[in-house]
Amino acid sequence: MDLGIKGRHAIVCAASKGLGRACAAALAREGVSLTIAARTAADTEAAAEEIRQTHGVVVTAVAADVTTPAGRAAILAAAPQADILVNNAGGPPRGDFRSFTAEQWMAAVNDNMVAAIEMIRGVIDGMIERRFGRIVNITSSTVKGPVADLSLSTAARSGLTGYVGGVARQVARHNVTMNNLLPGPFETDRFRGGVTSRAKAAGIGFAEQLERQRATMPAGRFGDPSEFGDACAYLCSRQAGFITGQNLLLDGGQFPGVF
Ligand code: NAP
Repeated sequence: MDLGIKGRHAIVCAASKGLGRACAAALAREGVSLTIAARTAADTEAAAEEIRQTHGVVVTAVAADVTTPAGRAAILAAAPQADILVNNAGGPPRGDFRSFTAEQWMAAVNDNMVAAIEMIRGVIDGMIERRFGRIVNITSSTVKGPVADLSLSTAARSGLTGYVGGVARQVARHNVTMNNLLPGPFETDRFRGGVTSRAKAAGIGFAEQLERQRATMPAGRFGDPSEFGDACAYLCSRQAGFITGQNLLLDGGQFPGVF
């Protein structure tokens, strides 16, 4: 299916690896030119080059921390007329809810809520003027089904989810949509880090912990980041113009509820 976004320009934050990179690659495959950002310059340029070589689109790599005002300014300056924004950042640390300090709570709210809100504020009026905008926020399945050691993630991302729910209805008439993608377990560096820390806590090896987690998956496997990228590209498509303010869970059936 032609997604109708060839020639559009997308900002993809936190996109040198993992889910952000998969979203960037899926958009590039549709003929979308990109501004991709991550903190480590060499990794960001390497990802940009791989996408250029594979998909033949223009990709600008920006070494920037999206959780800082200076980082966001650098990203927005590199892409002053973005049609698509994919918000993403690293996830907050895991831990027992009793252990988190006020500083850690403020950092999680900054990194996983305020950073996305500020990026949205930076692009939204241009999208409204040009009568096309697609904003996708990478949040987490923990917004729908909280996980014991991820309370920082659940709470901060829930704030963003509420914001998107309200603002999406204010911009929908301008053909600007805003949706959240909620990843369950996808095989990325971050995911492998979580398996490692849980294995350590359980006093077992990585492979055994991985198997224990796999056994809980109705799909019998974890997600492939390319599946996540494909869902993102669809939400950014011309055809998805009537889908807004939604939270799409991608978890291979892990969440047990009907709705
Ligand atoms: P990942 O494989 O570790 O990749 C993270 C990417 O984000 C890297 O490119 C990293 O590059 C970049 N990044 C991190 N912090 C950044 C910052 N402050 N500014 C700019 N770029 C930044 O992680 P992932 O698994 O793709 O996860 C992406 C998001 O989805 C995270 O918030 C994670 O918590 C959430 N999530 C993931 C899963 C999963 O199963 N994978 C499940 C639920 C939620 P640099 O380090 O060079 O900046």
